[in-house]
Amino acid sequence: MLRIDVSSLFIAMTLNLLIMAVALPYFMGRVKRAARYAQAGIALQTAGWIFLLLSSICQRGGWADHLLSTLAMASVSSGMVFNAMAFELWCGRKPAAYVPAIIAVLMTAGYGIGFSHYAFRIGWANGLLALQIATVIVSLCRTPQLPVGRWRWLLVISLSIQMVVLALRGVLGLFYTAEFPNFYAPHLVNQVFALSSNAMMVLSVVAILLAHRDETARELERLATLDGLTGALNRRAWLLQCRIDLASSLRYRQPVGVLLLDLDYFKQINDTHGHAVGDHALQLFVSGLRAVSRAGDLFCRYGGEEFCVLLNCADFDAVMAYDKRLRQWLVQHSAGELGFELSYSAGIAMRTHDTDTIETLLQRADIALYQAKSQGRGRALAWTPA
Ligand code: GH3
Ligand code: MG
Ligand code: MG
Repeated sequence: MLRIDVSSLFIAMTLNLLIMAVALPYFMGRVKRAARYAQAGIALQTAGWIFLLLSSICQRGGWADHLLSTLAMASVSSGMVFNAMAFELWCGRKPAAYVPAIIAVLMTAGYGIGFSHYAFRIGWANGLLALQIATVIVSLCRTPQLPVGRWRWLLVISLSIQMVVLALRGVLGLFYTAEFPNFYAPHLVNQVFALSSNAMMVLSVVAILLAHRDETARELERLATLDGLTGALNRRAWLLQCRIDLASSLRYRQPVGVLLLDLDYFKQINDTHGHAVGDHALQLFVSGLRAVSRAGDLFCRYGGEEFCVLLNCADFDAVMAYDKRLRQWLVQHSAGELGFELSYSAGIAMRTHDTDTIETLLQRADIALYQAKSQGRGRALAWTPA
């Protein structure tokens, strides 16, 4: 007859958890905070299961059983807290898991104090662990602050199953204690618990690896679209977005302007104050762009000490107003931050024909910029047809 041996399943799961707890940190290599929390979560769950298995070979009800069982509860529940913090981070939120943490403390304390009352401690521990998982599920169901993959639902499914089985175990221990006399009781609920815990552990690890892959992909995307020094968009990402913006402004018959900005005498700044101050000046300039930009203004570091701004729904006066705001901002901030005034020259190109592309506008802005430089710098000039 087909038999499910609860103790063998528990041992197999503990062994697999132990392998994961050792292998994941080693083979995943350097990871960010969320993955480290998830790894810590697995390590704590592993410790919890080892304590549980050890407690079952001690004298039942003795001090070693009491200590190891209580440590097991502390480890398993705090493992879930670490997992919850990892999930929060992967969903783009702060790694706060206060409710699961409070439940972990309450559960462990109640379990340790009420250890001699078997029915109570089984009901209490399983019930509160189920509640703790429920709060993690609720949190996972909240709208994430980042685009996240389907791993979230894999976790919700796997945690929901664990939650239901734990709750059933709690009810069994509390109200039908005779049918659940010990940790390895061959009751159907305990058999389902042993089987589902094994399966859910595999699913959880898969979900954790998927979430980690999501995070890595986002990081790569960030590196591919942002300039490393200033955090502004890079040229490639900016051009891509410009093509979309130009097409939509054409459709809605809105004016569009491009500003090409080049810092004045920047080589001299580097030579006089050093490259680090030059870098700081570039970062400050981007802070200025950020401060004066409004919704629809798209700026980037075009390269070196050149920047570009696409101003959507902006006529020539609006583009000039942007330039004026930026110059005022630099007057207010550059001397204080850098010890000298940062100035720039700008070329402006407005879209004059429906067929104008971003490349056409940039070519025109570059011609105007060249004129602004040759007329003495520190000014903005607009391109005019020859
Ligand atoms: P102009 O007024 O004609 O624009 O003169 P300029 O000195 O600003 O222009 P030039 O093109 O001769 O020099 C640009 C300088 O910008 C040279 C380059 O070393 C410096 N530069 C480019 N990228 C960086 C950077 O990331 N950090 C620093 N510190 N300097 C940079
Ligand atoms: Mg230049
Ligand atoms: Mg320059």
